[in-house]
Amino acid sequence: MTKNYDYDIVIVGGGPAGLSAGWSAAKKGVSVAIIEREEGIGQSVRTSGVTWIEDAKSFGIPEDYYNKIKNYAFYSPNNYVLKSDSEPHAAVLDVRRTYQFLAYKAASAGANIFLKTNVIEPLTDDNGKLAGVKATSMKEDLVFRSKLVIDASGFYSVIGKGVGMVSQWRRFGTGAEYESYVDKINPETWHLMVGNKYSPAGYAWIFPLGNNRVRIGVGIGKPESQMDATQRLLELIESRPKPIDQLGRIIPIEFHYGLIPNEGLRSSMVCDNLILVGDAAGQANPLVLEGIRYAIEFGRIAGTIGAEAVIKGDTSKESLKPYQDSTKKDIGSKISAAIKVQYRWLSLKDEDWDKELEIIKELSTEEFLDFLKADFGMSNVIRIATHHPKLAIRQLFDMIKNARNCIDGMKGK
Ligand SMILES: Cc1cc2nc3c(=O)[nH]c(=O)nc-3n(C[C@H](O)[C@H](O)[C@H](O)COP(=O)(O)OP(=O)(O)OC[C@H]3O[C@@H](n4cnc5c(N)ncnc54)[C@H](O)[C@@H]3O)c2cc1C
Repeated sequence: MTKNYDYDIVIVGGGPAGLSAGWSAAKKGVSVAIIEREEGIGQSVRTSGVTWIEDAKSFGIPEDYYNKIKNYAFYSPNNYVLKSDSEPHAAVLDVRRTYQFLAYKAASAGANIFLKTNVIEPLTDDNGKLAGVKATSMKEDLVFRSKLVIDASGFYSVIGKGVGMVSQWRRFGTGAEYESYVDKINPETWHLMVGNKYSPAGYAWIFPLGNNRVRIGVGIGKPESQMDATQRLLELIESRPKPIDQLGRIIPIEFHYGLIPNEGLRSSMVCDNLILVGDAAGQANPLVLEGIRYAIEFGRIAGTIGAEAVIKGDTSKESLKPYQDSTKKDIGSKISAAIKVQYRWLSLKDEDWDKELEIIKELSTEEFLDFLKADFGMSNVIRIATHHPKLAIRQLFDMIKNARNCIDGMKGK
């Protein structure tokens, strides 16, 4: 027997994007169902959970949900740079607690959450229009009818693909990490490692969580490399290149694995009765594979604009377009400039990486962090490009400037 439900908005996926969309939509007074296929929110961790304290605070994430970082170590095969700040700016989240915090917020605003419920395909009406989703839960068939679907299913964009709006990502990152006990680690210092001995197309990391707990991982870009991320992680833990050699015993406690799109924003993020958000929409910084704050921020916008469209009685593509426009305006050109830098990074050989670190040494800590954040605001880029006398650094930032100019030009700005 099929169970039937009726909601104003159905959200597929209980990750940061879906939970944030659920919160902001429910706050507007519409009925909301968030559908998550796992048994618990944040059950399988698929992220390293690094974000920025400023963003975490603005989202209301309690301070004891993250470990604060103020030293940023960067390693190439034969070079090393350490950037330090008097104040911490980065945060390593307790991912499960943070996502459950977002879930409680959504629930307290009125959203319902269905766990262990797998969305399998879109539901269409007699005219072929999207009218909800079909799902299964514990061998039961479920039908969720809704005026609007928000696809926050992450990498797989299950509804976006189901309605033929998007296809599977071709460029993406794979990441494997162990959350581990280690004997020795400075809890305020993170470590990023680049070059072939760490990752053939990506980077490796050690992100501390405090109390001798760290996430040690490696990310590998596809299709640039065929290497398996889990295999490379095991090799790194076995061979212990610097700085992994300084951790003492490494005792894995939990394994994490995930995929992240790496093509920039989807050209279309809305169609009639459908919004894509978070990884489903390509809202991640491809340079350092960072997407949580975008998922929360744009999840909130998607929920608000979606709920307003429902209240207005018009969930057409045209009515939802302000969401797509604001996303593209906010991060479109930053993400495209980050992709450009990433292509450059992917072309570097080990000895080039050693030289690239010399460029990074020239940057102030603030400039370095803006760079990692893909915070390529035009004023930032011009300031850095003109204030640094070394040719290499000017060339790097001129490249970003040109990428931005080109994209803004295409948008007719
Ligand atoms: C290895 C790795 C490391 C990363 N490290 C960082 C980092 O340090 N900092 C950072 O900011 N970002 C990081 N990211 C990226 C970040 O994790 C994502 O950008 C972010 O999780 C996107 O959120 P989302 O809600 O869109 O998708 P997700 O977090 O993927 O959530 C999607 C949810 O939908 C559910 N779902 C999927 N399909 C269905 C279905 N058919 N039915 C029901 N439910 C479904 C899933 O179970 C999941 O809970 C990393 C990614 C990877 C792969």
